[in-house]
Amino acid sequence: MVNEPDKMKTLEHLFEKNRKWAATKTAKDPSYFQQLAKQQVPKYLWIGCADSRIPANEVLGLEPGEIFVHRNVANLFPHTDFNCLSVLQFAIDYLHIQEIIVCGHYGCGGIFAAMQTEQLGLVDNWLRYIRDIAMREKEVLDALPHQEEKYQRLAELNVLYQVMNICHTTIVQNAWARGIDLNIHGWVYDISTGLLKDLNCCISSLDQIDSAHRTLKLRY
Ligand SMILES: [Zn+2]
Repeated sequence: MVNEPDKMKTLEHLFEKNRKWAATKTAKDPSYFQQLAKQQVPKYLWIGCADSRIPANEVLGLEPGEIFVHRNVANLFPHTDFNCLSVLQFAIDYLHIQEIIVCGHYGCGGIFAAMQTEQLGLVDNWLRYIRDIAMREKEVLDALPHQEEKYQRLAELNVLYQVMNICHTTIVQNAWARGIDLNIHGWVYDISTGLLKDLNCCISSLDQIDSAHRTLKLRY
């Protein structure tokens, strides 16, 4: 729907910023946007938190076109979420991405909220996935003396669980079955230093998946 001009509430300052940004890019390379418009060939898929402090491109020093990004509250990958599944399938089958990164972060509001008893609203139903992980990992978390350590560890554990959720999909397992070299990595970002930490979790084959979650495509 188009509003009458005098009733429109525009965010003109953002358009101004956009024009400046586009001008900076074309000043360096006049064909920058024409080249980018032709195609995207990102080598990486980033599954990260929606937190405004973690723009995937910027923290990796990558340009537009270099990373395919999906972000949601607390970087979750629920195995029935068609948004997540569609991004994953498109990334693997059509963009031919072979490196998938799940990146959580310290200081995550989603992790913090999932460890409190007060309701926030509808988002609590999304954060239930994290509460479930906290319950399953209760012993590990209870052993940590400080609350901040519990938040940090849960942020890391959440990443590991989401990495496995991705590996348990038929999308990833079928790609491996086709002989594709596909790696799923677990990282965490520290907003207080700007640095990434590799959780030394890289899943690259069906052998690394527990037997209950291995699915083989039926051949007729
Ligand atoms: Zn977060």
